[in-house]
Amino acid sequence: MSEVSLNGITKYYGNYLALPEMNLNIERGQFVTLLGPSGCGKTTTLRIIAGLETPSGGALHLSGRCMFSDRTHENVPPEKRGLGFIFQSYALWPNMTVERNITLALHQAKMPKAEIAERLAQALKKVQLEGLQDRYPSELSGGQQQRVAVARLIAARSGVLLMDEPLSNLDAVLRTEMRAELKRLSRELKATTVYVTHDQVEALTMSDMIVVMNDGRIQQAGTPYEIYHHPANLFVAEFIGDPKVNLFDAMAEPRDGGLWISGAGLGFQMAAGGYGGGAVRVAVRPEHLRIHTAPKDGAVEAQIDVVQPTGSQTIVSLDLPDQRVTVLVAQFRESWPQDRVWLDFDPAHAMVFDTASGEN
Ligand code: ATP
Repeated sequence: MSEVSLNGITKYYGNYLALPEMNLNIERGQFVTLLGPSGCGKTTTLRIIAGLETPSGGALHLSGRCMFSDRTHENVPPEKRGLGFIFQSYALWPNMTVERNITLALHQAKMPKAEIAERLAQALKKVQLEGLQDRYPSELSGGQQQRVAVARLIAARSGVLLMDEPLSNLDAVLRTEMRAELKRLSRELKATTVYVTHDQVEALTMSDMIVVMNDGRIQQAGTPYEIYHHPANLFVAEFIGDPKVNLFDAMAEPRDGGLWISGAGLGFQMAAGGYGGGAVRVAVRPEHLRIHTAPKDGAVEAQIDVVQPTGSQTIVSLDLPDQRVTVLVAQFRESWPQDRVWLDFDPAHAMVFDTASGEN
């Protein structure tokens, strides 16, 4: 039985259909990220799970218990759903100290004082806010306030954690640390986590399953590996990956029992997989394009445009006759010895999408 289960959940805001029909099952202990561009319905989905937003239709179950159903008119209030959550805008109580903010829910649940003290100490330690428990939110930086919200979540030790962009106000170093911390935390607590972000790095690094959304619809739900290497459609291929995937317009024609794909000066043979052919877009990740210093069979000539070392890798922009492409090289390079190079890729790394439908 799934821990979180959405069946045909719809949501209208007035006449605007924010969620057409959401079906999603999350298993116990999974770390699931809802990922997508601004306005795609991530927060709405999370707020529906939390009970902060009432769906227009469908059914929601948590641990097998019905929380909402348009048929039985069941609608369990948020505080009775047994969830822990941090929302981006979920402000701390300004008139309460850090300690009180973290422990309020535990006091309300009439937990023994010793246990509350133990949970408070552990939570403060985890987010590195020891010694600041008597401060008020106004006496903390934005990042510290965020960590108080994380500490509250840690102290709640809830079975299901909901997080909406909890790391968005943190600086880059702390964000990387907290990413690992939240992942470890979710594992230690054996919690089921539903995490909302528009940051693909957070999604790829933390998740067991990524749910990519666009316009209120699930585009693909899969492991980070599946989402990155086997995107279901062009939207997912383009949304995931930094630098962005390179796209080439090409034609697919039946040949030798498979398909011959040609365009932009490149050509390769692949299995048909039931596809009859037509206009296609070929997507190749920047790390899968190869730069050669001399002409090579099947490689196209390109001009080096800009070389950007990022540390362990270098991003190289190149110009083909009709388009610009990006190559990611796994070494530190400040420049290239010559301007003119030749590009190709291993066809095994090419992802081919039907131009009209965008489907893989
Ligand atoms: P973001 O990353 O910007 O937070 P999101 O993916 O979380 O975006 P939602 O906040 O779920 O998106 O919003 C989905 C759609 O519903 C958006 O088009 C938004 O404008 C609309 N919407 C959200 N809340 C309301 C509301 N209270 N009233 C009317 N429309 C709303």
